[in-house]
Amino acid sequence: MIVMYHKVDIITPSRWWVSIDKFREQIGLLEKFHFVHLDDYEPSGTSQVIITFDDAYENVYTHAFPVLKKRRIPFEVFIIGDVLGDWNDFDTSEAKTRFCSQWQLQEMAEYGARIQWHTRNHSRLTRLDQAEIEIQLAVPKELTAMFPQPHFRWFAYPYGAHDQHIVAQVRERFAGALSVNNGSPGDRYQINRVTADEDWTPYTETSCSAPTGMHPPFKLTQSRARKELSPR
Ligand SMILES: [Zn+2]
Repeated sequence: MIVMYHKVDIITPSRWWVSIDKFREQIGLLEKFHFVHLDDYEPSGTSQVIITFDDAYENVYTHAFPVLKKRRIPFEVFIIGDVLGDWNDFDTSEAKTRFCSQWQLQEMAEYGARIQWHTRNHSRLTRLDQAEIEIQLAVPKELTAMFPQPHFRWFAYPYGAHDQHIVAQVRERFAGALSVNNGSPGDRYQINRVTADEDWTPYTETSCSAPTGMHPPFKLTQSRARKELSPR
């Protein structure tokens, strides 16, 4: 199962935020499973859990990172390359918050984080022409120099938005790619994730194995099932 977080903080202004206490509780409940990096992900392995953070907000460094570091849990951070250390001005529906700096990413990378790609400026790829798509998918050299392999091997589609044209180009550049809930089971370039919000509780009973291995061995809470929105 692959879990998707965005912001972890004291406040929770929208469903894209999880409180620190809830985050710690959710991670604690997940500890009975095996935390791995995406590179070690085996779709048929129902005991695996992968923690992902989209957008790389500073509150992840401040609040989630210490919890993961203390437990030595591997995790994945999908960055928006052009906004490091900047503010989330493009996301007008969300409370103002800052993105991680390069130095914060470097520190996390020293303690279990793999830095992954989430485009240059969080564009919805399905609306771009070919030249723009290529710009968005290319990781700048200064970042690959700072974070060499095994970083930047995985990609996450902004808003989960992708089509076959986009998938084909991502396939040429990355080892795999993550969507949210509109992926395609069995396709390493359209892997679905579970959105962890404040109401989410990992299903703590015996895990169930789905044939595709792409479905989480966890049950969604009712409140989450009601409000399935596009991810940020
Ligand atoms: Zn995003």
